[in-house]
Amino acid sequence: MTDSPIWHPFTQHGLEEPIPLVTHGDGALLHTADGRAVIDAISSWWVTTHGHSHPRIVAAIADQAHKLDQVIFAGWTHEPAETLAEGLRQIMPESLTRVFFSDSGSTSVEVALKMALGFWHARGEARHRIVVMQHSYHGDTIGAMSVGARGVFNRPYEPLLFDVARVPFPAAGAEQASLDALEALCRAGDVAAFIVEPLVLGAGGMLIYGADTLQAMRQICAAHGVLFIADEVMTAWGRTGTLLACEQAEIAPDILCLSKGLTGGAIPLAVTMASEAVFQAHWSQDRARMFFHSSSYTANPIACAAANANLAIWREEPVLARVANLAAQQTAWIDTLAHSCPFENGRALGTIAALDLKSSGQGGYMNNLAPRLMAFFRERDVLLRPLGNTVYVMPPYCITPEQLDVVWNAIGEAVLAF
Ligand SMILES: *Cc1c(COP(=O)(O)O)cnc(C)c1O
Repeated sequence: MTDSPIWHPFTQHGLEEPIPLVTHGDGALLHTADGRAVIDAISSWWVTTHGHSHPRIVAAIADQAHKLDQVIFAGWTHEPAETLAEGLRQIMPESLTRVFFSDSGSTSVEVALKMALGFWHARGEARHRIVVMQHSYHGDTIGAMSVGARGVFNRPYEPLLFDVARVPFPAAGAEQASLDALEALCRAGDVAAFIVEPLVLGAGGMLIYGADTLQAMRQICAAHGVLFIADEVMTAWGRTGTLLACEQAEIAPDILCLSKGLTGGAIPLAVTMASEAVFQAHWSQDRARMFFHSSSYTANPIACAAANANLAIWREEPVLARVANLAAQQTAWIDTLAHSCPFENGRALGTIAALDLKSSGQGGYMNNLAPRLMAFFRERDVLLRPLGNTVYVMPPYCITPEQLDVVWNAIGEAVLAF
């Protein structure tokens, strides 16, 4: 593949690591050109929920492609988008009455930030500050990077990233410090919004915190009129054991970002859902006050049809029961390994399970432990992509118990080998 002109994401081409060619997928498996069947234990970067090339989603895509492929969405509409918006309103928190479409998680975050700033602008209040959680990740565009953790990933761009205020991660035992920091910031009166990944910080290292803390954070924001943005791009669609992670804290955000599993992971689509108050702040008979945002493929009909198929699967199939079985098996594996393997911080929530290897020494994303681990798993036909010394599993919900055992046996071997 060395002659390929492709510039891959998050890939250092100078290291000449192998880039397998995938020919087809089914269920939790990815088949490669050299005849391997690899278990996709990270849902192809957290997107695939029901399995690869799921027949219902594929059929919906094919059917829609024959009817209408794409249409301008400014001032026009179509049936798949209307059905999807209505379907989302039925299953998402009642207070989120409006659905704005875009095409990736990063864009849904940009849209959320623009909605929040537009809300305060329309009210004539000078609130521009965004508060974020330490170690958070919200995407790779400039605005999304600005509200995420700073590090080697964004050093070249750092001078141009906008300033945000950060509250410490509410690690076990340190929750109150995090809440106090949020309270102090919100008190200042210049905060437009708090954006947070509910319950699990994904790219930050699968860091899990409590639903009580999330609920308290939501209450602090409400008390100070600060808009609460839930970035559920990774955590939604059953990942944490419930449809939304916010459900476990019994909260509803003012603005909600969804993408990844929205189409079952088959095709790009995102939505930013907003409360009526956020929508009404932009409602006017003055064109200068409309929400100025669009991307070319906003609410692409084929992508909306895939999302409608995903919603149908959620309505008609026991998705949460699959998630619960998967969760139980992963928790059992962490307990089993804990007796024989020297790792730290075994943790799990819903379909997500993670542990930290001790041997890493210097730690961090750039130590070469992760690529060596990836190669180790690749040799065993398991797709895992550790974050530094954190090995995590986040499989599609259709993974079989046998396939999941293969993944965890490989992890057990790795913990002993590294
Ligand atoms: C992946 C992710 C994003 C970015 O989504 P893209 O579709 O990759 O742009 C944003 N927020 C969270 C929490 C994510 O996990």
